[in-house]
Amino acid sequence: MRTRFAPSPTGPLHLGHAFAAITAHDLARAAGGAFLLRIEDIDRVRSKPQWEQQALDDLAWLGLGWDEPPMRQSDRLGTYRAALAELWALGLLYPCTCQRRDILEAATAPQEGGAPLIGPDGIVYPGTCRHRPRTGPLPEGVALRLDMELALSGTKVPHYTETGVHRPGQVVVDPIRMIREVGDVVLARRDFGTSYHLSVTVDDAAQGVTLVTRGEDLAEATPIHVLLQQLLGLPKPTYHHHRLIRDEHGRRLAKREDAKAIARYRAEGETPSDIRRRIGL
Ligand code: GLU
Ligand code: ZN
Repeated sequence: MRTRFAPSPTGPLHLGHAFAAITAHDLARAAGGAFLLRIEDIDRVRSKPQWEQQALDDLAWLGLGWDEPPMRQSDRLGTYRAALAELWALGLLYPCTCQRRDILEAATAPQEGGAPLIGPDGIVYPGTCRHRPRTGPLPEGVALRLDMELALSGTKVPHYTETGVHRPGQVVVDPIRMIREVGDVVLARRDFGTSYHLSVTVDDAAQGVTLVTRGEDLAEATPIHVLLQQLLGLPKPTYHHHRLIRDEHGRRLAKREDAKAIARYRAEGETPSDIRRRIGL
């Protein structure tokens, strides 16, 4: 049994991160398993070494020892490229040069029915570039989208086991909803050469994670990851989507929520048990 905590070093860890990290850590310890870390720094503009260091300090202070050296996504661009090449060879990717504005215009065109559908990554892509050639070497310097309908038509229906608060039990992915409400997601961004969905899927497999724990806000991305596991022949972890920590107004905490930063409570003399109490653990 192996769990992980995967922060993006784009700001201070706050109480929501503490809850996610402690959940993963305590589940691993209870099962005699391993707790791993992964630094999700594919966004080279927003990620800062100072935030990575602060995150490691905060986790150590919380008493959450990790069992292997942290994996860092910025070290793994070649691995992501190899996974993209596999999907490209299957004819499941196509290059897309649309700007946000083009997508909004095409998605709101009268023949599309007016209001655009919003999926886990924003507006559901209207398919403008789907006809582009899928031959030759893997394109570089351009966004790559997954042809969702084709990807789903060639595989058995993806499913996964959920143990958390979000639809516990066996979850079967509905291909019709995936095509209509998620659509052709970007697997490689032009600026990063990869994406959250691709990296997280490839890395959970590379770290041998057997139980993915994360907030229920990410539950709608899980079917995408489960489909990618199937397409890339990766093992399927179990998922545990946990509740979110909210502020006194019931809003979920954002990265810039420095007021709830673990570092601030530390500076004010609170202890790790105080933090656990604040988040109901
Ligand atoms: N890096 C993501 C975040 O900070 C979490 C990714 C995941 O747990 O799948 O929100
Ligand atoms: Zn496009």
